[in-house]
Parts: sequence; structure tokens; C-alpha cells
Amino acid sequence: MTTSFIRSDDLTAFLAAMLEATPVYGPVAKRSRFVFDRLESPEELRLDYDVTILPPRKLFFSPAQDLLRFDEAGPAAALEPVEKVLFGVHFYDVKAIDQTDVLFAERNYDVNYMAHRQTTTIVAANIQNVSGRAFFASVGTEVRPKGHDAFLTAVDGGYVLEARTERGEALLGYGAFRPATEAEIDEAARVNAAALERCPEKLEHGTAEIAAKVRAAFSDDDLWSDLAKDCFSCGSCNTVCPTCYCFDVEDTWNVDQASGQRTRFWDACLTEDFAKVSLGEGATENFRETPGARFRHRIMRKAVYLNPKLGGPACVGCGRCSAACTADIADPVRVINRIMAS
Ligand code: SF4
Ligand code: SF4
Repeated sequence: MTTSFIRSDDLTAFLAAMLEATPVYGPVAKRSRFVFDRLESPEELRLDYDVTILPPRKLFFSPAQDLLRFDEAGPAAALEPVEKVLFGVHFYDVKAIDQTDVLFAERNYDVNYMAHRQTTTIVAANIQNVSGRAFFASVGTEVRPKGHDAFLTAVDGGYVLEARTERGEALLGYGAFRPATEAEIDEAARVNAAALERCPEKLEHGTAEIAAKVRAAFSDDDLWSDLAKDCFSCGSCNTVCPTCYCFDVEDTWNVDQASGQRTRFWDACLTEDFAKVSLGEGATENFRETPGARFRHRIMRKAVYLNPKLGGPACVGCGRCSAACTADIADPVRVINRIMAS
């Protein structure tokens, strides 16, 4: 695949041509923060964003996603995926998409997620500004992002675009690209390496060492209840996390009482009812009843349980959970560094 260069002055025309041909989603400003949204014009794109409020997985697996619709004739798929471009994704979010790809493909292959995923061309972009709680440089360094079609890096006077797939290569047709020089390719590599040096937070130990020690702390109930003592069980740390993927499924009926839809909603393991199950006749059992048990479960999922499947931790160091937690207790760096120091 090729590595190309486009001048800064030509980027707007490139984006405009792409927008003319296909829906494009990218980071846009929302008051003082950023969200992934559909671009109406090239000027809306904010490649200087630090982190978005919600991760880009909402494009493949929305907070409320209809799975099927039904009426007297029976059920019908509610799938309506459209070809689109997701532009400007930071590498930690690409890693998170890679992980979700693995988890939604194993065992029960998730046709809904996959249909949206397979109709999306992903263009990663270098991290121009680092968010205040990020630690992506010290987490899962053994796992490299791979599920993207092209990688755009801002360099002096323009952008280097490395096409990684045929879909990525096809984007070149929208803009005035020329082959990148060796000097431009080297500068792009330096720019991306420099972003890793700017993370404000850092894990002090490697993945395997962390996994072993966190697992060994499983039975330390005092530790987990102390870590979770200020937890509101609000689930915000789950909702904003790019590697969380749990959902609940609900059937709703229309007023005709003959038709309706089956919808899945994002769920959150920190909320009180997440692990509550029915025992029948009105009785229930909650197998993670305390905030400490739920808090432990989240940390185990991020640092231990999924590592063999994913090749590294199920945390990409975006720092969204740390920033979203009102009680400021969700930060994996603080939790893990405390466990490692005990
Ligand atoms: S656990 Fe927190 S830092 Fe890690 S990926 Fe999820 S939101 Fe980002
Ligand atoms: S750790 Fe923080 S964000 Fe997560 S449920 Fe508890 S209070 Fe909410």
C-alpha cells in the first residue's frame, strides 16, 4: 500500500469531495468538548481534538440499536447499514475497535455489529492534543492497532496519509495527493512517537505483572470495598469506555399491540441491577450486590480476564472513565498503581 502527501491547503477540497460521495463521520466540537458526528461540511472536522465524550463504537453499536421489527407477518431484520467513512480516529480508539471486532466475532457472531463495521472505512489520525487523563502510552504496548484503512498524520505543510487497505487507497481519488517523500514519512513517524511522550498518566508496570497481581487481589474484599466506597453506581465509567460492550435486550410493542421492535441498549456492570437475576415468583438474586464487587469486576475485565483473548488488557488508556467519574475513583492508573504498591 502507498504513503501519500497532501498539502494543508488541499485538505478542505479532499474532505469536500469525500463528503459529496459518502457520509463522513469525524470529531466535531460540542461546546468545549468533542463528539464523533456526521460532518455537514469540511470545516466542522476538528483533528486537534483531545478525546471525544463517547467512543466511536456508537457508529457500529449505538446506545439503542433496533435488532429486528415484528408484526403479524413475523420478524424482519432491522439492519440498514450504509457505506460511510469514519475519519480522524485516534489510535487508542482503533485498538478498542479491534478488540470489539474480536469479541463480536467469536461464538455468537454479531451480524448487527459486523454489518455496520464492514460498511465503514476507518481513517486514523495522529493525536495532536492529549487529554488530561490519558495513559495510552503505558497500557497494552504489546498490542498494535490494526483495524483501520488509512492513517493520517499532520506534518509540516500538510498531511501524510498511509493507506493500509484497498478501501484506504481508494480515498486518494478524492484529493490532490502525491507520493510522500522519505523525509515526510520520517517526520510522520516522529510526530506519532512524540505523542506517546505526552501522556499525563502512566502505569508503572507491564501487562503480565499487572494481570497477575490484580488477580491475586481478587479475594481482598476490604481493598475493593475501600476502592469503591465513594461509588455512586452510576455506570458512567462503563458508558464512556471504548472497550465496554455489554448490552440489554428489550422488546417493545407498538400501540396496535400487533407489531413492535427488539432493541438492545448499552448496559453498565457498575450499576446496581446489572447482575440481578430472577429466581421466579418475584424473587431475585444479585450476584454482585455491593459496589466493591462491581468495582472489582470492572477492573478484572480491564486488566485480567480478557487478556488471553485480546493479547493484552481490555483498556486502551483513553482516560475517558477517569474524567467521567464524579467521585474521581474510576481511574485505572490510580487503582492499578495502588494494587501494585500493596
Ligand atoms: S477503562 Fe477507562 S481508560 Fe481504559 S479504555 Fe475504558 S474508559 Fe478508557
Ligand atoms: S466508579 Fe465512578 S463512574 Fe463508575 S459507577 Fe462508580 S461513581 Fe460512577
